[in-house]
Amino acid sequence: MKDLKYLIIFLLTLCMCSRVNAANIVYPKTTTTKINSPVTFFIGNEKPDKKLKINGEEVTVHPSGGFYHVVKLNDGNNVFTIDNGNSSETKTYTIIKPIIKETEDNQEYVSFDNDMTYITIADNVPLRAFPNESGQGRLQHLQKGIPLNIIGEQAGYYKAKLARDDYAWIDKKYVFRNDNFDNSPAKILSYDYEENIKDKTFTIKLDKKEPFILSETKTYKVIDNNYETFATGLDLTIYNMTGYPENKYELHISSDSILYGYKAFYNDANELIIKVKKHPKVSRSYPLKGVIITLDPGHGGDEFGAIGCLGDNEKDINLKFALEIKKALEKVGATVYLTRDNDSEIGLYDRVKFSQEKNSDIFISIHQNALPDSQAESMKSGTGVYYFYPQSAQLANTILKVLTKNLSMNNDKVHQESFAVVRNPESLSILVEIGYIINPDDNAKLINHEFHKKTANAFVKALEKYYVDQQN
Ligand SMILES: [Zn+2]
Repeated sequence: MKDLKYLIIFLLTLCMCSRVNAANIVYPKTTTTKINSPVTFFIGNEKPDKKLKINGEEVTVHPSGGFYHVVKLNDGNNVFTIDNGNSSETKTYTIIKPIIKETEDNQEYVSFDNDMTYITIADNVPLRAFPNESGQGRLQHLQKGIPLNIIGEQAGYYKAKLARDDYAWIDKKYVFRNDNFDNSPAKILSYDYEENIKDKTFTIKLDKKEPFILSETKTYKVIDNNYETFATGLDLTIYNMTGYPENKYELHISSDSILYGYKAFYNDANELIIKVKKHPKVSRSYPLKGVIITLDPGHGGDEFGAIGCLGDNEKDINLKFALEIKKALEKVGATVYLTRDNDSEIGLYDRVKFSQEKNSDIFISIHQNALPDSQAESMKSGTGVYYFYPQSAQLANTILKVLTKNLSMNNDKVHQESFAVVRNPESLSILVEIGYIINPDDNAKLINHEFHKKTANAFVKALEKYYVDQQN
């Protein structure tokens, strides 16, 4: 079966190459290109029986025809000759590595003489731990109309003083100065708590809106010799509140099991509403029955994603996987939505919004990996899973374990990463890179329909295991 698959791929490659008449180079994309890295790679395909050489170095060609060959780059022009033994088919590529000067360090911190009140002018504005865009530094996303006490600036960010020793940064473009705003501490007017079968709702009514940070309480356990993250509750701090030490109102919300999605927002009546979803009780025989899952095939339309050794577009492969996974999940009773079921283009935030509108329990973005030039030598392969909010770490771990085991894929680990599509606290949100499309071994699997079906079944197994494990 496997041999037949390779034979078909081989024949297809033969057809492709006989038209092209030389090795087909997928990356670099053009014969003259600029790459600012000390290393890069040539990715493409050639008839496996040809002796392919790049600058005299032999290139290993996978039985499927795919190849991945690392080259070093010097400053200036680097010329590469691609030779498959037939001199009339020789190709030349020029890669320019720019000679760059060290850039001056960015601006120094400037402290203001007087504190000033600035108000957020948009929703979903990141409040950050550092004056830069680093993903892990996101403390909270603020709504429009939240006042901040600003004490200085640096590198395009204002420094906000939240409490005596609590500071945060906000991009200057998301706030405006309001000298008439009364920024005296706010009061709590009332509390309310409601609980039903699906969620718990905390309502804290203030006399005006104030900045808050809601963060997940994390614990770590050693499982299979790895430190694994568990989110066991939420910690809320509302700043600039009268009647509390340092003007900080603090509340800990504990969860019976690990978290399963939450949201926090102000309504027009200055009520801060915190909705915490409860882990559902599931039946052991149909653990996915009634679970709402949004599958998100990455890229689409003019956004091709990465390109494989054999010339396949990541966007098409992502969709094929997603359609198979949907089918398999529906068979076991899950309710499944796709952010796209054709070759259309969708923005990253629209994908998240779609998932929220569907009230999803789980959001899974499907991708195939590639490497930046600078990591060409790592020759990475295999399945990797990405999450942002700690509540999704356990799902990520389970998916990774089951997929790598059932699909005999290399383990490319679980990573906490600030990707826009997984920065959604309302559901468990992960991004799965099923394989490296630029790796000839992985690539041959990723374009195989049987492998898509096998992957779909592995997703079912993994998700079922996740829900059953949560009952224990
Ligand atoms: Zn992708």
